[in-house]
Order: sequence, then C-alpha cells, then structure tokens
Amino acid sequence: MNTRYRKTIIAGNWKMNKTATETKKFAEELKPILPKAKRCEVVVCVPACNLSTAVRAFRDMRVSVGAENLYFEKSGAYTGEVSAEMLKDLGVKYVIIGHSERRQLFGETDIIVNKKVHAALEAGLNPIICVGESLEEREMGITLDRITLQVKAALAGVSGDKIRKCVIAYEPIWAIGTGRTATAEQAAEVCNEIRAVIRNMHGARTARSVTIQYGGSMNPSNAEELLAQQDIDGGLIGGAALDPAKFVSIISAANQE
Ligand code: PEP
Repeated sequence: MNTRYRKTIIAGNWKMNKTATETKKFAEELKPILPKAKRCEVVVCVPACNLSTAVRAFRDMRVSVGAENLYFEKSGAYTGEVSAEMLKDLGVKYVIIGHSERRQLFGETDIIVNKKVHAALEAGLNPIICVGESLEEREMGITLDRITLQVKAALAGVSGDKIRKCVIAYEPIWAIGTGRTATAEQAAEVCNEIRAVIRNMHGARTARSVTIQYGGSMNPSNAEELLAQQDIDGGLIGGAALDPAKFVSIISAANQE
C-alpha cells in the first residue's frame, strides 16, 4: 500500500450470495464491529437485485456499494441486462468488470470488458477491472504477458484522467475460491507490472494514483502480508467477505499499514 498517492480499497464480492433480507442482516452485524476511523475505503459488491437494499443499509456506515456487472449499452432490447446509468441512479459507486467467472462462464472477452469500462466511466461509476492468469498460463511462464494484454485491452481509449477513477484487481484464476493464495512476492510482481503498463501508457503520475488490488482467497491470516506490498492497495475478497467478522479483520489489516 502507498496511501500517500492512492486510495486503499477493501471490497467484498458477494457473487450470487445473500438475499435482500440477508443483506440487511449483514449490515446490522457489521455496524457495531466496523472500525470508526478507516484508512481505507470499504466497498460491498452485491447481486443486482440487492443493490437498493444495500445502498440504504450501508449509507450511514460510510461503506460504498458496488455492482458485480453491467451491460455496456445505454438502453434498449437487452432482456435481463442492467445499464451503467441504472446503477448510478441507485446510488451505486463501483462496478466489477471482467471478473474471471464472467470471462469463463459467460464468454466475456477483452473487447466486451473494454466496452463495459467505457460505459461505466461515462456514467460516473468507478470500474473495478479484474485481470488474472490461469494456472496453465502461470506454468507456461506467460503470466505477465497475459496480464499486460488484459490491462491494455481493458483501458484502450480511456484517457489518463479517467484511468485515475479505475481500480485494477489482480486475481489469479487459480487462487479464486480455492483457498490457494498467491504468495506476497507473486502478487507484488504482477501488481508492479500492472502499474508499469499504466506508466508506459499514461506516465508516472497517473500510474501512481491508480489503486491496484489483489484478489484470490484473501483472508484474515494472509491480508496483512499482502497489503504490506508497495503496489497492493487493497483487496477484492470473495468468500471471506460474506462473514462480517472476517471482513472486518481484513479491513483492520488495511488500517494498520
Ligand atoms: C473473487 O471472487 O473475486 C475472489 C477473490 O474470491 P475468493 O476471495 O473467494 O477467492
């Protein structure tokens, strides 16, 4: 983390978990244990149907709400989809784009990710852009090439001032939901490379202002070591973010740095 130049962000990704009732219960349980003074921004990304409940439930806790996806078109005949403008209107601040589950299970390509990033920024949302290599790619020694391509594609055509509004989440696919975490060195190497890619595209000032998270089985016991790395400015957390106590432990680790 480097709080001098950029925001630290601890974000939960609830995936397809929790009903609206359970969302309210989570907020009630979180409230008394959430540290009052936070050196990081706390975000919960929830299923689309629970967004307005979440916006209301977390409002007085200074916890921001994020969506887990959007569609890049503004409106029209796209049954089942939700636009950036609709999210913004609900009071949503962040939106996860290009999560590996969406890339793998729903055919989201780098080109679609780029369109979604543009749509989010145009509506005034902050995209959390996920990038990450598969185990095969890591074993082939092409992790940094894969990540470079994903970052360049996601940010293609985005101006330097808009890139400052983006968060990049490095999420090695082999570490998501597996209990297997990247070592602090592995995560730091890739996050450092992501910043170098942005530096090459838009210069040092823009690159140092971008928040880069690590995601992939982050939990209370490994968060501190991961967050101690210069280029890791927070976490995108799946499983551990569903439990208020574990989520708070990770927030506290970010508060200590
Ligand atoms: C995620 O889904 O973004 C994630 C990091 O999940 P987990 O923490 O469960 O590995």
